[in-house]
Amino acid sequence: MLGIKTAALPASLRRTNQRTVISLLLRMGCASRADLAKAAGISQPTAGKITAELLEMGVLQSAEFPDGNEGASGHGGASRRLGRPGQLLRLDAERPRFLAIELGVMQTRVAALPVAIRSADEWAHEFSTPATAEAWVAGLREVAAAISHRGLWGVLISVPGIVDEAKDRVIFSPNLHWLESAPLAQLVKGVWDLPVALVQEIRALALGHLASEPVREDFFLADFGQGVGGAVVIDGQLYPQPTPLSGEFGHTPVPGNLRPCGCGATGCLETLVSRRGLLQSFGVAQGRRPGAAPEHRSRDGEQAETTGQTEGWAQMPAWKRLLRSRRATRRGAVAGRDAGHGRQSHLWWA
Ligand SMILES: [Zn+2]
Repeated sequence: MLGIKTAALPASLRRTNQRTVISLLLRMGCASRADLAKAAGISQPTAGKITAELLEMGVLQSAEFPDGNEGASGHGGASRRLGRPGQLLRLDAERPRFLAIELGVMQTRVAALPVAIRSADEWAHEFSTPATAEAWVAGLREVAAAISHRGLWGVLISVPGIVDEAKDRVIFSPNLHWLESAPLAQLVKGVWDLPVALVQEIRALALGHLASEPVREDFFLADFGQGVGGAVVIDGQLYPQPTPLSGEFGHTPVPGNLRPCGCGATGCLETLVSRRGLLQSFGVAQGRRPGAAPEHRSRDGEQAETTGQTEGWAQMPAWKRLLRSRRATRRGAVAGRDAGHGRQSHLWWA
C-alpha cells in the first residue's frame, strides 16, 4: 500500500485480525472458522491460528452442534451446515471479564460482564450515588465483597459530565461536582486492582448501542434525560474526542432562551429539552390554562415545575408554549427510541 514504509508488524497484524474476528462474531453470533476466514478476507490457516489464540485467551468459546442444525442462528445463522457436524465459535458468554460501573447522577450500578454482549440490561449491584468520593468508594467496597477479582481484565466506568477520557479526569459535572476533584480511576483501582478506563456516559451509551446493533456503523446518538448529550460513531468506531466538549450539544445556545443552565451559561438547549426543561415548559403551559392543571409526575416522581419561566418564554402565547413543549418532548422521545436505549424522556402525558 502506498505510503507505508515497512510491512505491518506481525504483532499489530495479529491484533488487527483478532479485532476483525471479534467484530465479526459480534455481528454473526456464531460462525465456523471457514466462515470467519471468508468474511475477514484471510486464509483459513490464519483464521485457525487467530481463533486458537482467542480461544486460549478466553475471548471465544466453542459451540459444537453434532447435527449441524442448531445454534448457528445466534444473530443471523451464518454458519449452518446441514447434514454434517458443525464446529462453531462464539464470543465467550460465561466468564466475567469486565467490571462495568455506571456512575449515574442518582444511582451507581455495577455488573461483572463477559465478552459477549447480553441482550438484557441487568445490573447485579446498585446503590444511591452519594455526595462525596469517600462515601462512593465505601459503596464500591461493599459491592466488591460480592464480586471476585478472579478472571477480570479491567474496569470501565461511565461518568456524566465533561470528561477528559485521555487523562481519566472529569472536568465538569453540573450534577455531581465532587467528581471534578476526585481521582476516580485511582479510587476504583484501590478497590479492584485492575486497569481502569473512564468513558463519558453518552459515549458509553453509543458503544453499547454499537455492540447491540453492530450492523449500524455510522450514527449520531442523542440522549435526552437529566441532561442532553450526543456521541458520534463512524465506521463502527467511537469518534475520538478532539476536545472533551465533543458531543456536548446540549449546551448550544438557543436564541431567545433566557433560562439559566447548570453549566453556568444562559439559554442552553438543555434547559429546554432535558427532562427538567420539558417539565418546566409543561408546567408553565399548564399554569396558563385555567381548569386544565392536573398534577403530572414523571416516572421517578419529579413534579412538574411551575416556576422559573424566563422572560422570552413568558412573552410567548400559552398555546404556542404548549405546542412547543409537546413538539420538543416528541422529538426527545423519538430520538431516544431511535437510539435504541431505554432512557428517553417519556410522553407520560400525551
Ligand atoms: Zn449549559
